[in-house]
Amino acid sequence: MRSDASFDVLVVGSGASGLSAAVSAERAGARVALATKTTLQACNSAKAQGGIQASFGEDDSPEIHAEDVMQSSHGTANPRLVEVLTSEAPSAIHWLEECGVEFTRQNGGYRLAKCGGASRRRLLQVGDRTGHAITKALREQFESGSGTALTHHKLIALEPRENGWAATFETRNGMADILASAVVLAAGGRCYREANERHELSTNHANATGEVTRIALTTGAEARDLDALQYHPNGGAWPSTMQGYSIPETTRAYGAVLVNADGEEFTDSLGPRDAVSQAIFDEVEKGKGVLTPDGRPAVWLDTTRIAEADALISLPYMLRRYRSGGIDPLREKILTYPVLHYQNGGLVIDEHAETTLEHVFACGEIAGGTHGRNRMMGNSLLECTVFGRRAGKAAAERAGT
Ligand SMILES: Cc1cc2nc3c(=O)[nH]c(=O)nc-3n(C[C@H](O)[C@H](O)[C@H](O)COP(=O)(O)OP(=O)(O)OC[C@H]3O[C@@H](n4cnc5c(N)ncnc54)[C@H](O)[C@@H]3O)c2cc1C
Repeated sequence: MRSDASFDVLVVGSGASGLSAAVSAERAGARVALATKTTLQACNSAKAQGGIQASFGEDDSPEIHAEDVMQSSHGTANPRLVEVLTSEAPSAIHWLEECGVEFTRQNGGYRLAKCGGASRRRLLQVGDRTGHAITKALREQFESGSGTALTHHKLIALEPRENGWAATFETRNGMADILASAVVLAAGGRCYREANERHELSTNHANATGEVTRIALTTGAEARDLDALQYHPNGGAWPSTMQGYSIPETTRAYGAVLVNADGEEFTDSLGPRDAVSQAIFDEVEKGKGVLTPDGRPAVWLDTTRIAEADALISLPYMLRRYRSGGIDPLREKILTYPVLHYQNGGLVIDEHAETTLEHVFACGEIAGGTHGRNRMMGNSLLECTVFGRRAGKAAAERAGT
């Protein structure tokens, strides 16, 4: 057990944002500790499938990307954070490549898909396990450095000290106090807990329970849009082994469409997430939905319209999962219904990812503002990378390294 150890920068959470912050802080010369509730691998980031947005298309630009974000957020996102997000997206992708991520390529460039709410093809992918590839590469970077990993450390309190912060953790061996000049909160959202409380399905990892947001609020940090939770339009509804699975949005990018019990298309399948989810709720409400064999509401996602060649490159994991459950999505439609997926809001941050508490930074799903009240798919992994890097660097600077 580590007790009363001290570091320049303490990062809490080992998803894409925490790992990006830890790697950046260490590269900036800081002595870094990365604390996480269970194992380094356990996080939502590793479950992300669809991809990550960046404007590499010839007809695209960071400005068009920013317009799409503002529009999808219905004007509620913070324009300065959006500008940082979209203008740094291409360099964030190159940084991930330097860390070892190999994005799927095609015709000499990236294979770009169009995601919901986007006006251009902008979604880079690593097959359909993009989050796994990103977290694995970042974890390897972190583990090859001199940072200290504190696994099975659950943050339970944060208190100011004269020269920084004291963080208290529950560990397998009792309590541990860690002192740090600067702290990066990267502990993700709360949709797993929220879904449990609502008796609903969620796509989230069991560690997505949101206590770190509560700790920050108790300590005096400000938050925004915390009530704005996002439903993923396409949760798996059947077979039971796929319930709560997030059917990648790339299914719709590559041609799948939503249809009702009568086989009619009832919405723009590639609309913004909140609009598509609402359209499904409304269709079921009108009595035009379908019941799953265990009596749950659903509509059809007609995946038979996806070309096999596209599915083999961009949806191999999804195909394998469904086929092992006895359903071949390229031969038959699949049942889907919205599931609780993402916490749009979070701690208020500035463009360096600093919260309203001095020397406390926040990045990734725990932070608010970048997506306003409705996130576009593919912008969360991007936010983790862009603002994780910024948080790590700024925290190292604040720590005086
Ligand atoms: C199934 C699924 C598919 C997705 N697909 C995509 C996609 O294709 N593209 C995209 O951009 N986004 C996608 N998302 C969203 C995106 O993956 C997440 O929002 C993002 O990865 C969150 O990263 P994070 O680093 O903020 O948090 P997480 O990855 O959730 O990591 C949080 C970390 O904090 C730790 N933690 C939590 N509480 C504590 C505590 N008290 N003490 C210590 N540690 C703690 C957790 O154990 C974990 O390590 C998807 C999400 C899911 C669930």
